[in-house]
Amino acid sequence: MAELRTYRAKRNFGSTREPRGGKRPARGNRYVIQKHAARRLHYDLRLELDGVMKSWAVTRGPSLVPSDKRLAIQVEDHPVEYNRFEGTIPKGEYGGGTVMVWDRGRWMPEGDPRSGLRKGHLEFRIAGKKLRGRWHLVRLKNRDRGKLRAWLLIKGGDEHARRKSDPDILTAEPTSVASGRTMAEIAAGKRARRRAA
Ligand code: MN
Repeated sequence: MAELRTYRAKRNFGSTREPRGGKRPARGNRYVIQKHAARRLHYDLRLELDGVMKSWAVTRGPSLVPSDKRLAIQVEDHPVEYNRFEGTIPKGEYGGGTVMVWDRGRWMPEGDPRSGLRKGHLEFRIAGKKLRGRWHLVRLKNRDRGKLRAWLLIKGGDEHARRKSDPDILTAEPTSVASGRTMAEIAAGKRARRRAA
């Protein structure tokens, strides 16, 4: 069971409505991407492993174009309950801003994901509503000094890959898979357009 100590230390649960997280059986393979308009907009990629969500902040968001390499900074493990968090984090709190459940589903590692994480190359498939098919996370060797854990998120070549000239998935699919809401609607506290699927 991985630890959520860092996750909890960063947050004031008397102020934010983010979950504190409990103990979990270490068996699932859930996948989620949360669009997070904090000080800087980014997309948080989370992959369930050993009872927690391994997490990366993808600064420019995922791309379906295999030649696009998107910087993904590994951040603290998050609780599995975080996957359902959509709403606002108060200003002044850690990560203050608006969070949307942009995509979710399952992920399937190719090979042992623990050794992949250690080696710095994770190969996997995603079965989400927006993202599908093969993906790679590759750690950058020279940029891991200190606390910056820099990886690249790269689409693998398959039938789900797109060309540069195709529409950008981020603008083509801007709303929440959980509520159908836009970022502005979540920020304004509007009700869900439809039931969570
Ligand atoms: Mn974030």
